[in-house]
Amino acid sequence: MATASVNKPRIRAGERNGGSLPARQPGRFGPYGGRYVPETLMAALEELEREYEKANRDKKFQQRLDELLRTYAGRPTPLTFARRLTEKLGGAKIYLKREDLLHTGAHKINNCLGQALLVERMGKRRVIAETGAGQHGVATATVCALFGFDCVVYMGSEDMRRQELNVFRMRLLGAEVRAVDSGSRTLKDAINEAMRDWVTHVRTTHYLLGSVLGAHPYPTMVRDFHRVIGREARAQMMKAAKKLPAAVIACVGGGSNAIGIFYEFIKDKNVQLIGVEAGGRSDALGDHAARFHGGSPGVLQGTYSYVLQDAAGQIANTHSVSAGLDYPSIGPEHAALRDSGRAEYVSASDADALAATARLARTEGIIPALESAHAVAEVMKRAPKMKKSDAIVVNISGRGDKDIGILRENLKLE
Ligand SMILES: *Cc1c(COP(=O)(O)O)cnc(C)c1O
Repeated sequence: MATASVNKPRIRAGERNGGSLPARQPGRFGPYGGRYVPETLMAALEELEREYEKANRDKKFQQRLDELLRTYAGRPTPLTFARRLTEKLGGAKIYLKREDLLHTGAHKINNCLGQALLVERMGKRRVIAETGAGQHGVATATVCALFGFDCVVYMGSEDMRRQELNVFRMRLLGAEVRAVDSGSRTLKDAINEAMRDWVTHVRTTHYLLGSVLGAHPYPTMVRDFHRVIGREARAQMMKAAKKLPAAVIACVGGGSNAIGIFYEFIKDKNVQLIGVEAGGRSDALGDHAARFHGGSPGVLQGTYSYVLQDAAGQIANTHSVSAGLDYPSIGPEHAALRDSGRAEYVSASDADALAATARLARTEGIIPALESAHAVAEVMKRAPKMKKSDAIVVNISGRGDKDIGILRENLKLE
């Protein structure tokens, strides 16, 4: 099973809607997205798409999801005005969207709860997932415990060694964690194994994808499960400031928290949308995870988007101090938003993210996840250059407790 990006589709990147494809083909974002999977998976993807579309129109499904988000996950999350950070930076007013306050400590639970409800509707009882640092594995194991599903999480053995605590968490929640010993023993190898499992057990098993990646309908479906972030943020901003923000900023791994907060603002052309990728330790291939600064179009995990790859189309190694941004591809909708110029993508280095973590901790009493700290780093650059009457909303996608070990190794505190 090739997850590498060797088989490039004939559509050329950069072609807008109206190129060789119908403008509104489902699952396409301009030339990006699509369904590059073995034929054996097509029936499962079509079933998932049908079920998702039915659920979308079903009031009862929406009510159950809303109730779980409220009574289990802890929605709505607050929008916090960062008064001291705003004063220190001396420019735009900074507001924090607090996804860090959700159950399990990050936005991922929004999507996992939505997909778990779909699994139930499809009458399946076995869920598989793949995880790098273990955060998506933990969120998946959590909803599987809540719904009583069997749960198998594939994880590279090198990642298991580095993330012992999350391996234990998943097991405590009742999941089976399967070590993957092939290749670099990290996320991309775990993805290969999860795909293999899915092809073999597709009738009984749901593949719970953790970001706006993979074959259609995943990028659309996962986005929709996270749109609640932007819906809440927009209403909360209107209430707090009586106007829309000048900019919305979010970190971009696969891109789910970013598209979730961006989506509700796309039609508001005066709101700048800024995604922040992991700049890592240098610009060299292998030292970062900035797909728009060193990647090129290709296929990974069933979708056509920007991918960090070598000349032969094999997936490159990536690096980021934050595990959640350490992924070689980016959601296809982000590729289209970037081509059209509606959103802008920048990167923040490991060092910038570490410094931003300490800054937010000390000015606001909030320790952000290292992923979210990349977005905070961009706020620190931009806010001082903006007008005091402007507002910025930054998505704090998760809390930093999981990163304490890395923070301890990297921050020298007096
Ligand atoms: C997983 C994760 C991310 C990256 O995933 P996206 O799909 O890009 O949102 C960002 N922040 C946190 C806290 C995460 O756990």
